[in-house]
Amino acid sequence: MIDGGEAIRKLALNVARYTGLAPLARPFVGGIGAILMLHRVTATPEKPDSVNRHLNISPNFLDAMIADMKAGGYAFVSMDEAIERIKAGGKGGRFATITADDAYRDNLTEALPVLEKHGAPITIYVAPGLIDGTADLWWDVVEDIVNASDSLTLATSNGPVLIACKTPARKHQAIARLHTYFTTEVREEDLRTVLRELASANGIDVDASRRRTLMNWDEIRTIAAHPLVTIGAHTINHSNLKRLSEAGARHEIGAVKDMLGAELGAEPRHFAYPYGYASAAGCREVGFARDAGYASAVTTRHGVLRAEHAGFPHALPRLSVNGRYQSLAHIRTMLSGVTTPLANAGKMVVTI
Ligand SMILES: [Zn+2]
Repeated sequence: MIDGGEAIRKLALNVARYTGLAPLARPFVGGIGAILMLHRVTATPEKPDSVNRHLNISPNFLDAMIADMKAGGYAFVSMDEAIERIKAGGKGGRFATITADDAYRDNLTEALPVLEKHGAPITIYVAPGLIDGTADLWWDVVEDIVNASDSLTLATSNGPVLIACKTPARKHQAIARLHTYFTTEVREEDLRTVLRELASANGIDVDASRRRTLMNWDEIRTIAAHPLVTIGAHTINHSNLKRLSEAGARHEIGAVKDMLGAELGAEPRHFAYPYGYASAAGCREVGFARDAGYASAVTTRHGVLRAEHAGFPHALPRLSVNGRYQSLAHIRTMLSGVTTPLANAGKMVVTI
């Protein structure tokens, strides 16, 4: 879900600087295709000024982006076909496949009509725990807690810490502090309990954001039955796998297949690592995804696809369609491949 803010800001600067260069650079850095990453697609976000607004694009922008890419020669294909095309070294022309993480309801109500218009397939990665409420959209809840409070008390290993969050600037700092707290200080296994204690101490209903924004199982079954839709797995509890034991991580990656199979009648063939950045998915997790029998697994590392990815189907990079930069120029620049080495210390083939 969360993109590194710093990386995105740097990327944006680079994009601005290199936009004019992108068409010239394509022969050297361009790839065979791209996996696009979405989260929410809505024209009416509940919190338009949210710190998480990078996770939302408008349906109109999705429409314009697909049309622009088609005009530029991209074929929109399913994840199964994308994997076949990668294995074939990109023969058949440039392609794109769309993915969306976390199963937001607007994928059904606002994105699907746009995808139908273009015949563009989508893979939606589902974490059953987020749907059942055994895991939480904690980044959303954190924002609600901070917005509702003038100050917070965090339980840390050094004792209670008071966090001021009265002014907009303090709220911004408090959200950043809570992100660090929940991703590095609280044990992954304790995240839900600690979040719920903090939420109830500040009068926030943790389940409200899930019910408001995520699909329920009936809606997931509906969208799963659509011919353009593939359901992929996203662990059981949206876990940061690197922070779990081997047994814990293997369970999150493997048992989710059975859970989704029981709910939807078919086991998922594709997987997305929650968070997908370096501190959440590495070589160990790639091995676990391969061992679990998935045909592919995607990260949130930034990059276009290249023929070399035939050897790394469980460490595929994506291009985040970022809500803060809903511009076709930005998309074209990323697709040119020029931002791939810029965002990855010069690497052209981005894996783990
Ligand atoms: Zn996610």
